[in-house]
Amino acid sequence: MSSFVWCHGPGCHKSHTQDRIRGVKGSKVLRTKKVQQTQWSQNSFYSKFCSQSCYNAFANTHIQEITAIAPRTEALETPIDVQQVKHPEHNNGHYTQRAWTETKIITVDNNGG
Ligand SMILES: [Zn+2]
Repeated sequence: MSSFVWCHGPGCHKSHTQDRIRGVKGSKVLRTKKVQQTQWSQNSFYSKFCSQSCYNAFANTHIQEITAIAPRTEALETPIDVQQVKHPEHNNGHYTQRAWTETKIITVDNNGG
């Protein structure tokens, strides 16, 4: 006795796979897949969708409603420090790594004041 939901993918029942075939000869169907509820966290889309492609199809179909849940009306910003880190030429015995400059992005925590 396991609990499940039907996959929310709008085209799940149109995918030609053997595990979707149900019914008796003469009246066979492709049926939406079951998604077991014990396997995945409830915070994961895998608790409502059988696959990444069913999730993508749902998101593409309902993109306006989905983004209306939490609209992004202005840009967010993350405070950072940018450092130039110079790495000297280095030979490991097989080849020589030329000197290079790394651009390092470091997140700055402004919450602590
Ligand atoms: Zn599906």
